[in-house]
Amino acid sequence: MGRSTTATVSLGALRHNLARARALAPASRVWAVVKADAYGHGLSTAIAGFADADGLALLEWEQALRLRAQGWRKRVLMLEGAFEPADLALARNHVLDVVVHDAAQVGWLEALGEPGGAPLNVFLKINSGMNRLGVAPADAGDLHRRLAACPAVGAVALMTHFADADVPGGATDAIGRFEAATRDLPGERTLANSAALFDWPQTRADWVRPGIALYGASPFAGRDAAALGLMPAMTLSASLIAVRRLARGDSLGYGSTFTADRPMRVGIVDCGYADGYPRHAPTGTPVAVAGVATRTLGRVSMDMLAVDLEPVAAAGVDAGVGAPVELWGRRIGVDAVATAAGTIGYELLCAIAARVRRATVD
Ligand SMILES: *Cc1c(COP(=O)(O)O)cnc(C)c1O
Repeated sequence: MGRSTTATVSLGALRHNLARARALAPASRVWAVVKADAYGHGLSTAIAGFADADGLALLEWEQALRLRAQGWRKRVLMLEGAFEPADLALARNHVLDVVVHDAAQVGWLEALGEPGGAPLNVFLKINSGMNRLGVAPADAGDLHRRLAACPAVGAVALMTHFADADVPGGATDAIGRFEAATRDLPGERTLANSAALFDWPQTRADWVRPGIALYGASPFAGRDAAALGLMPAMTLSASLIAVRRLARGDSLGYGSTFTADRPMRVGIVDCGYADGYPRHAPTGTPVAVAGVATRTLGRVSMDMLAVDLEPVAAAGVDAGVGAPVELWGRRIGVDAVATAAGTIGYELLCAIAARVRRATVD
């Protein structure tokens, strides 16, 4: 019934990518990052696909409670920690590890006093140059001592997050700052996001924290996921809802940004920017129709976009109404679509809209 627009997630691909992360860092435990509804893949799907992970990491408290309600018994790490003191009671009740990125959060933990129940595991986050979250390297020792002295706190681990691990040489200074700040401090370490997991072996510490790689997209501009040994987990598909012929000189879509320079057949697809497909994808963005690679034409509209059927016909495929369209997935990498639209795969995956039908396959 109704539109065909569907985001299908492969559990096998999620498992494959997690195994790939483990193979890269065999001595590390893995936090599978599932923030932003598992990068748009759905939290329940992520629980199934990442059953083998050592823990799940996210920052949304409602979603963390959902993980527990749905039966996730292993570790959970709150990547931004408590937003207000009351969050710490939730952390205690549901056994959630918390990041501490600011001195105010240390104060909230101290104010808990002598808690009932198990103490909280905390990850003290050190600013290694991103200048977003994290305590100054010079304050790390002091805050670490305060945390360790806190009756409500169990283990104190150390963490940082890189601004530039995806570019050659980009993490060198940050690694140096983190090491200098933590040299004399006890506790487990976690540094690596997906990019560092691949390119900075020295950051594969007690825990690694891959996100995007687990979903089969690349953390690097210009290096595709297949070359990294990753398998795309999400396929965004739709179908042709109309096929029409353009005469030479006919234009197409809002703004008439595409004009046919010869007679041609075009297909209209039931997917648009209200589904999460990027409006900035220009004419020429890769797409597949009935298994044949082709291109988009003209402006993406709210509910539809247009595709060139000439390469499809040239491949001997007669694609009529109902023919399947892959916007991204195994054949058309989300990173290629993102590059065409001037963004990154992360943004496209996270942006899948609520009205898009969801499916999970093994
Ligand atoms: C999002 C996030 C990650 C994962 O980053 P990817 O680039 O998707 O691998 C790791 N650590 C923190 C703190 C994050 O916020």
